[in-house]
Amino acid sequence: MSTRSTAAPADQLTVRRSNLSLVLTHLRDAGPRSRARVAADTGLNKATVSSLVAELIERGLVREGDVQRIGSVGRPGLMVELAASTVVGVGLEVNADFVDVTALDLTHGVVLSERTAADMRALGEQGGIGLLTDCLRSALDALVAAGCTVVGITVAVPALVDSRLGRIAIAPNLGWSDCPIGPLLTEATRGHPAFGAAAEVPVMVDNDANLGAIAEHAVGVGRDVDDLVYLAGEVGVGCGVVVDGELVRGATGFTGEIGHAPLNPRLDRCGCGRVGCWETQVGLGVLLTGCAHGPDDVLLDPETDIDGRLAVVRQRAAAEDERTCATLERVGIALGLGASVLVNIVNPRVLVLGGYFALLAPLLRGYVVDTLLERVVAPDGGGVDVRASTFGFAAASRGGAVVALQEVFADPTRVAGTTAG
Ligand SMILES: [Zn+2]
Repeated sequence: MSTRSTAAPADQLTVRRSNLSLVLTHLRDAGPRSRARVAADTGLNKATVSSLVAELIERGLVREGDVQRIGSVGRPGLMVELAASTVVGVGLEVNADFVDVTALDLTHGVVLSERTAADMRALGEQGGIGLLTDCLRSALDALVAAGCTVVGITVAVPALVDSRLGRIAIAPNLGWSDCPIGPLLTEATRGHPAFGAAAEVPVMVDNDANLGAIAEHAVGVGRDVDDLVYLAGEVGVGCGVVVDGELVRGATGFTGEIGHAPLNPRLDRCGCGRVGCWETQVGLGVLLTGCAHGPDDVLLDPETDIDGRLAVVRQRAAAEDERTCATLERVGIALGLGASVLVNIVNPRVLVLGGYFALLAPLLRGYVVDTLLERVVAPDGGGVDVRASTFGFAAASRGGAVVALQEVFADPTRVAGTTAG
């Protein structure tokens, strides 16, 4: 048996950190198991694993669980597993109609979930950032009160994003452009007690559909597959593409802008300034306007929570309201046409309907599946399975929290050990 390290102390620390990450990530992906099993799975020796697990327990990231009995041979092993702990990642989602905050613990359990209805376009960039700051601070206050420490924050935006700089390049449906949202929110939350000993937590920024895809792949309806497309049905429409388990970003980070594919022959004007974009046929605004019985219809009231308005659409569909049924058919077929473009190109195992597409999935999915079978050139739609997200409008904020937690899995030493308890 070879010893793993004869290197200098600095390198030993790097190796130690990397092994802590290996064990913690393995417990996340493979589930609870004995130290001996972790050693066998990872190729680390048993003494090393015992020492690594002891440190992870001391840092509050792992806990001892039940005794595992493997047949009648050998000693029973004590199981170790991720501790829900008080370490949380925060996802903040900006949408045209609302702001959503989700905090997840290390086991991806939901610690906090808050939605604030708002007309973000009417608020403008400055007012919007002000509201985001209020929502984020209020969530951080609640997390402090619950005894949690926040290790990362990711904000999801319906926008073309420069993730490296934390900047929105352009957000057509918010009317924002060239906005340094990451640095602004980092500055606005600097020194918050939710960060524990850290002075600040840099706020990361990503596209909402990308984060939705990450959430579905990590903890959602796509967790059993490594090739999926997540379609975000909101005021704007975009998609996140996961191939071989990795998010596809493209050369400059702008993959997935299917909403602006020129698929609408009626050439309606899009929020991006062009005409004929796909989202002018399948965006949330088009659906609501199509179903509404006039300008004063509750479906068009931005003060009413979007889940409530979609419940009204479902009620009207159940009552076979003519306008509603015709709109759902029109939108459903258009949704299938755009989806068929994606499926023909990407050939995913699973197509996840997200956002309002998920909340109306029982009414839309049939049209989508029929259109895919008709339009995808591969037999049987290329075998794609069309599934509805279970996260509703909170998929992107969940994905943001998942990404925020990734910091801890990559480097468990970011979380300080406790001497108490
Ligand atoms: Zn467009």
